[in-house]
Amino acid sequence: MGVLLVVMAHPDDAELMCYGAIKKYAARGYECHLLLLTKGEQSTFNEGSREDRGKYRIAETKKAFSKVDINISCLDFTDGFIRQDYMLMATLQQQMERIDPTVVITHYPDGGWLEHQDHNALGNATYSAAIRYAHNLEKVLFTEPLFSNFISFHPNLLISIDEYFEEKVEILKHHVSQDEKFYIDEKFLEMRAASMSPYIRINGERFTGKFELFYQVYAVEF
Ligand SMILES: [Zn+2]
Repeated sequence: MGVLLVVMAHPDDAELMCYGAIKKYAARGYECHLLLLTKGEQSTFNEGSREDRGKYRIAETKKAFSKVDINISCLDFTDGFIRQDYMLMATLQQQMERIDPTVVITHYPDGGWLEHQDHNALGNATYSAAIRYAHNLEKVLFTEPLFSNFISFHPNLLISIDEYFEEKVEILKHHVSQDEKFYIDEKFLEMRAASMSPYIRINGERFTGKFELFYQVYAVEF
């Protein structure tokens, strides 16, 4: 049976970029894992200590994923300081060997000037670690960056999430600490999910469904 590993920098990244895809893999019987590199503790939503904020944000992600059979773990790297160095690669190697994924989903590593620096660094490192250390790897997917309008992100895999879109909007509301961010807003999520719809046709008819977009960078078929 397949094993899905999603590697993301911060709490809320996986929900925003690939909640529907995770639900689909889970429904197909994949064993699902979410690996968070940081607790997102740099976020300045209250006056608590950095440690308190990190705990709060991890709890939000656990609530958001309460309807999914997924193992969530956090590696406790420092939010904002992820870089592709020996420490990160050695850690990702351990995780690839432990989890042994067949499908890996991570950040698009060339997210441009506006994307969070942690996303770009982690996407690169995760792809490299997956190729080198996962023993049964079949597929690596990069998620759509938050600012994909401003860079040359060309999705080549569109995963239909019609059946999960409303749930995605609902579960994102568990991220109370982030509720002022533009990308949590339902209108933004709708616009993003429908951005490729004008190009999709089924039997000649325009298909107005909702999607999560990916760049499939690696795939093996037997
Ligand atoms: Zn993030």
